[in-house]
Amino acid sequence: MRIGYSRDIHKVSHSKELYLGGVFFPGEIGHEATSDGDVILHALSEAILTALSMEDLGSYYKEDESKNLSSLTILDFAMAQLKKKNMQICNVVISFTSEQILLSPKKDKIITNLQKILKINSDQLSVTATRWENKDNQYSECIVSLIIN
Ligand SMILES: [Zn+2]
Repeated sequence: MRIGYSRDIHKVSHSKELYLGGVFFPGEIGHEATSDGDVILHALSEAILTALSMEDLGSYYKEDESKNLSSLTILDFAMAQLKKKNMQICNVVISFTSEQILLSPKKDKIITNLQKILKINSDQLSVTATRWENKDNQYSECIVSLIIN
């Protein structure tokens, strides 16, 4: 078994739309980023890469090349690396931290979305949310465990 971990933090931005776990949150303040700024997918993708002893996301996605990039593309890249190394996901733990965004109304949608992409069942995925006293930044942490296919 292999373990991966990542934490992704972004500044909030009024000029960006919010995507979390590949799900669109209409009317909510987004994240400052060249991509869509999906902190959940960034932490998840990088956690998969670290479990495979690969580099951080920034090594594969240069800022000037990732303009308006959907983070689903980044997750697809991570999943392709996992497949290449003949591994599969054992379980995933995702934590999201924000002062203003409530994950709960769209949590089921995020879970369904991620289960499909990661090819896992509901008992292999946990998504939790917590608050902090910081309106300027939001972040996500992720721990992934992998097993040989
Ligand atoms: Zn990010």
